[in-house]
Amino acid sequence: MADEVEAVIARLRAQGRRITAARRAVITQLVEHDGHMAAGELADRVREALPDVHESTVYRALEDLTRLGIVVHSHLAHGPAMYHLATERHAHLVCDECGASIEVPATVTAAFARALRKRFDFEADLVHFALSGRCSACRQTPPGVASRIRRGRR
Ligand SMILES: [Zn+2]
Ligand SMILES: [Zn+2]
Ligand SMILES: [Zn+2]
Repeated sequence: MADEVEAVIARLRAQGRRITAARRAVITQLVEHDGHMAAGELADRVREALPDVHESTVYRALEDLTRLGIVVHSHLAHGPAMYHLATERHAHLVCDECGASIEVPATVTAAFARALRKRFDFEADLVHFALSGRCSACRQTPPGVASRIRRGRR
């Protein structure tokens, strides 16, 4: 895990970028929590580790790392964007019914991306937004029932 953090840091350094405490902490959190963190949660976790770092510094580090191609975000549903390391790039299928998120490796989306480029000359970013639909489990029950059951349990 520490190796993974150092590998990302080495890439930044190779690009001639500064390694600030905030940048290092953001990368560490994304590696430790295996991605899928909203900016707010990420900021909270970084500030648990580095209480002196201001929240706005964390958001700036996140923006910088995104611009530098180290971090990407995806919109999984109607909630906040979720951040990942760019090395873990994958598309998402999100179930409208239960909210389950399925990760789709680039090897699976590549054929679709190629078809879109060929037919429409469009270079699709299949990572930025999730594809919504219904998962296998939810299709076994009529629409609406699963979410009613879930709400009842809370
Ligand atoms: Zn579902
Ligand atoms: Zn993901
Ligand atoms: Zn976005």
